[in-house]
Amino acid sequence: MTIDSRPMFSKVALLGIGLIGSSMAHAMRRAGLAAHIAGYSHRKETLDKARAIGFADSLHEHAGAAARDADLVVLAAPVGAFGAIAKDITGDLKRGAIVSDVGSVKTAVVRDVGPFIPDGVHFVPAHPIAGTEQSGPDAGFAELFDGRWCILTPPAGTDAAAIETMKSFWQRMGSQVEVMDPKHHDLVLAITSHVPHLIAYNIVGTAADLETVTEGEVIKYSAGGFRDFTRIAASDPTMWRDVFLNNREAVLEMLGRFNEDLSALQRAIRWGDGDMLFNLFTRTRAIRRSIIDAGQDIAEPNFGRRAKKKT
Ligand code: NAP
Repeated sequence: MTIDSRPMFSKVALLGIGLIGSSMAHAMRRAGLAAHIAGYSHRKETLDKARAIGFADSLHEHAGAAARDADLVVLAAPVGAFGAIAKDITGDLKRGAIVSDVGSVKTAVVRDVGPFIPDGVHFVPAHPIAGTEQSGPDAGFAELFDGRWCILTPPAGTDAAAIETMKSFWQRMGSQVEVMDPKHHDLVLAITSHVPHLIAYNIVGTAADLETVTEGEVIKYSAGGFRDFTRIAASDPTMWRDVFLNNREAVLEMLGRFNEDLSALQRAIRWGDGDMLFNLFTRTRAIRRSIIDAGQDIAEPNFGRRAKKKT
């Protein structure tokens, strides 16, 4: 049996080289997927950092220069910037190229980027369900996508071969791949990612504004649960502003359900309905177990954190 060791793509352009873009560059290098990786960012400091780390073969101040002659172009900036970037690169896209992205919302991406995809260029939007609360080119690492899901949301009529290429690309970067309708993606991610982030931002904000509890106490006693919310609430403000502005309907729908369920809990506490509380907490504990069984987290207590040993 002969193994094909040629890279999948001659040139891949990453338009945005923060956590996700730089992690893709590392993962592509690990699997030998691109002969040339071109990176674009709009700020010189970011390009300088990326140059020092060395995960790209060329770095560009203009998106069009990075995208020129690329077989695969991936938008990896905050989703609010996608429309302007797509407009910038439309004249530079090579016939037969694939344009993709990593945006956390999909209906808005299809709406904003779709009109700038020229005839003969394929558009296969993607969302890797992997991340951390860190951002920037120094936050990336090759293993970020290992075992995580990547959802592709190709518009109707997308070339089947281009979809297959993107499936194989993400699998070779370590992911499992699923194809989904963009609207359904936005609803699923509203409850699994967007609303949890909003809850974390809100609870950390509420604690910060409390007059009866000092900031020192909030920090000192944070291991009681608060600390785990602060990890999520430390996520990039630009990225998350754009997520909420671009997945408004699905987030509002899920928040409606969330508020109803929260009111029911409030009522149970007020009327001393211990059974209701106990039954819910039993169900939610089982969900945590299912996530571990599915390989999406580890079973270590306290997310694997250990108390620091005294020296
Ligand atoms: P990040 O670390 O903050 O990186 C964003 C990159 O985009 C940086 O290179 C940044 O450049 C550039 N950028 C910012 N504003 C721009 C603009 N107006 N025009 C052009 N470039 C701009 O963010 P990230 O976590 O990699 O997120 C990138 C994308 O991945 C987002 O669309 C996000 O929704 C999606 N995503 C994120 C996660 C996650 O957990 N973080 C997970 C899955 C998908 P500068 O640094 O020079 O400003």
